[in-house]
Amino acid sequence: MIKFLLLAILVLLIARTFWRVVDGIMDGAGERRRGARQSPVKLVRDPVCGTFVAPTTALSLTDGGTTHYFCSQECRAKYRAA
Ligand SMILES: [Zn+2]
Repeated sequence: MIKFLLLAILVLLIARTFWRVVDGIMDGAGERRRGARQSPVKLVRDPVCGTFVAPTTALSLTDGGTTHYFCSQECRAKYRAA
């Protein structure tokens, strides 16, 4: 009977360790998936100087239904003047 109990505890410990490892792998995979979803930041090219800028932070100018993005006010002013 004691032998059976010891075996049961051993199995329980192994199972717990196993599930902890599996959880760790799942968490790691989830972290990678979340990271992959965020990482492809779509960059747009500044038509004046050619610098790639993120539309979320760049200055924009809508011209004839097309939105252009600029790295600075100078570039936007140059584009407007052109
Ligand atoms: Zn620029």
